[in-house]
Amino acid sequence: MPPAELFAVEPFDFEIVLAPRLPAQAPPFIDEALASWLLRFADPFGVSPQALLLGDAETEFTIHPEWWRRPDATVLVALAHRTGVAAERIKALSFADWPGDSGIDAVPERFARPRYISEQPTRQSRRIGVCAGCLADDEQPYIRRDWTLGWAAACAAHGAVLVRECAACGAKLRLPAFASDEHFAADRCSRCGFALGRTEVRPAADVVIRFQKRLLVGRPLGLIDLPGVGELDWEIAVALFDVLLGAVWIDTKPTARDQLFTRIARDLNSAPFGSAPHGGYEGLSVLAWMFEGWPERVQVALAILRAVRPHRQLMRWPHLNEKLRRRVEELLLPCWPDERSYSNRAWWRSWIDNLPETAEELRTTAARERLPHRRARLLAIADVREGMPVEIAADLADFMPRTLYIWLKRGAAGGLDAALERPRWQYLTESQVMELAEWIATAQPDGPRWRANRVQNEALRRFGTEISVHVASRLLRRHGPWRRRRVLAKKPLTVAPSYG
Ligand SMILES: [Zn+2]
Ligand SMILES: [Zn+2]
Repeated sequence: MPPAELFAVEPFDFEIVLAPRLPAQAPPFIDEALASWLLRFADPFGVSPQALLLGDAETEFTIHPEWWRRPDATVLVALAHRTGVAAERIKALSFADWPGDSGIDAVPERFARPRYISEQPTRQSRRIGVCAGCLADDEQPYIRRDWTLGWAAACAAHGAVLVRECAACGAKLRLPAFASDEHFAADRCSRCGFALGRTEVRPAADVVIRFQKRLLVGRPLGLIDLPGVGELDWEIAVALFDVLLGAVWIDTKPTARDQLFTRIARDLNSAPFGSAPHGGYEGLSVLAWMFEGWPERVQVALAILRAVRPHRQLMRWPHLNEKLRRRVEELLLPCWPDERSYSNRAWWRSWIDNLPETAEELRTTAARERLPHRRARLLAIADVREGMPVEIAADLADFMPRTLYIWLKRGAAGGLDAALERPRWQYLTESQVMELAEWIATAQPDGPRWRANRVQNEALRRFGTEISVHVASRLLRRHGPWRRRRVLAKKPLTVAPSYG
């Protein structure tokens, strides 16, 4: 303290005279949340933090249940007086210096599925996640500041997913209210008393921890540095995350999401996502995975999810303000090849780009086409015509990318018919395929589904040709009366809920 301050006369303050400085029995830990420290500080006195540390003069600054995230300077000064801990040190326990929208930080499980599909997601205050490893190691258990961030999902020190629910009773973990004078134990479930340090640790993938670190490093500056994208304002980054996660969580089928999560877990070299992969950790994992391979992985995700294209995804977010929308558009639309102009095209590209038929026309032709292999090729070529990457179009149509490349090259050399000409089934001629197709079509629609070996036997009997189970099942799928090929009609677009 500079000498001048030692002799400075404190201005007379009635409030402070009545509330004398308390012995600082519980100094704050450097990475502690302000709320955690205040609760720990008041605990030995058997009084609530509000009664012990907050006077009437601060009331108006402490009405909001989340005030401790960004305490007012008045409150900091008062707390410093009463606890003997420097105001700057107290301020460092909060997010007072963080620029931009602090609401985003306070929303529990900000990137979890409920934020995207529920009209009334929880607004519960003081929700936290904890690291069981940290709490188990603590001599004096305390809640880390960063655990109070709604989007934080992992502990870097323990490589563990943060725990947000009591493993014993299922209660969502929350900090007690400041008006509560009940005993505070940071490492116990406040409902059932379970020792949270004993929660079984779920490992977090390194890639996710690194991604979260980018957010933790960038967030105090309001600038997030994303691989492949560069630095973005916090609000823009979150708007981009929302559109990306909206594509994952909104209007997608659980089976498609499972397929995506299996792929992500494989790429991240991590454990499978588990039976209810809807939490904040999964949301953060999706983002970490996408930005690790930006923008190709966004394409892969949209293709696996059968999700609508980026420009339609953006329409889900009508409440985005214009500035954010424009930035997100600039970032997102080039992710889809037909929405960017690029120079380095493969040689067959000019053929497909100059096809007289549009993608829609190719699909219409496909719908009328009776030969399965021609129909499948037409659909895949329509996707490529529309700008879908060959790998993804092939993936969707269940072909090897190499196969689709071969057709495209044949088409470029000899025209569309050349691309469709060769039968996909190597051992059956086109007329034989038609014959089998007609035979399959005579099955009873409400009778039991035929098995593939019945078709195999029939092919052998009629033509003396052995066909694979794969080919036989494909014929059944295409021509059996049991289930029609799904018509890809445009569904009405679901709009994301309108909360912050
Ligand atoms: Zn930890
Ligand atoms: Zn509990």
